[in-house]
Amino acid sequence: MAVARPAPHAALEHLTVLYRGPLSSCNYGCPYCPFAKRRESPEEQEADRAALARFVAWVEAQPFEVSVLFTPWGEALIWPRYQQAVTHLSRLPHVRQVAIQTNLSGPLGWLADAGRTRVGLWATYHPGEVSLERFLTRTRELDALGARYSVGVVGVPAHLPDIQALRDALNPATYLWVNAFHDGRPYTRAEREALTRIDPLFEVNIRRYRTRGQPCAAGDTAISVDGHGTVRRCHFIPVPLGNIYEQDVRDLLAPRPCARPTCHCHIGYVQLPALGAQDVYGAGLLARIPEGPDWADPGAYLDRARQLWRAGATPR
Ligand code: SF4
Ligand code: SF4
Repeated sequence: MAVARPAPHAALEHLTVLYRGPLSSCNYGCPYCPFAKRRESPEEQEADRAALARFVAWVEAQPFEVSVLFTPWGEALIWPRYQQAVTHLSRLPHVRQVAIQTNLSGPLGWLADAGRTRVGLWATYHPGEVSLERFLTRTRELDALGARYSVGVVGVPAHLPDIQALRDALNPATYLWVNAFHDGRPYTRAEREALTRIDPLFEVNIRRYRTRGQPCAAGDTAISVDGHGTVRRCHFIPVPLGNIYEQDVRDLLAPRPCARPTCHCHIGYVQLPALGAQDVYGAGLLARIPEGPDWADPGAYLDRARQLWRAGATPR
């Protein structure tokens, strides 16, 4: 029996690409992280450089609009090659957005040469690795450069005073997201309320949505790409769809229901059409910067998240 092929996306207007190359190292030493204080050999550095250059060239050659989110294993933005890649992509007319996850420890001056309305930084604060004052100094540098960024933390209950201090000292216009901490005891009601006062969208992240069979844009208008060019629909489903260097990516895209039991990570669930995350995040979706029309009143977004959860998700 013939296997059904996805319908080609000849008229594709825009594709979101989450890129994660071979880089797997970090200058920070977070105790729970496999990349902490890991250094790469010159050969590994070169392999990452070559993979990044090939990916950037691929983006440059596409006939449709592209948005890119770099989600490295470790810290990439300390390296000039990533600063240059983000800068270069931000200047291409068909690149809508280029975002990158970072601990914000590296140089920031390169942003002056980038297309700053298109660059978004997903900056995470790691108490224990950097002082609050040092981190805030970096955010003030971003403000002075006119950069777009979000700031986030993991909502470890014991860190609540640090998280509150960060919120109090951060530019009031800067969104501070809080990721639910998975590995500890359940939050108390008081902790949930405190974290929700800090991040009005915290309750969206605290849930584990039961997504198997749900329509998801991942694999249709959003993909994950590794350093070899292997395409997967998202970072959470390992089955390859093909390779951007060997095929026209449009031939790999098709609407597909989610194949995983659950999805609980921001970069995943924002691709669920039923959640309508675009209404709150707008152009800032990839860098987690709420810039959409509903950010002023995200009640409808929160309601949709609750409906998704009631439709079969489990609390955690
Ligand atoms: S900053 Fe991020 S990548 Fe680096 S050690 Fe900490 S958690 Fe890991
Ligand atoms: S719901 Fe999450 S796990 Fe499922 S396809 Fe979408 S992004 Fe991937």
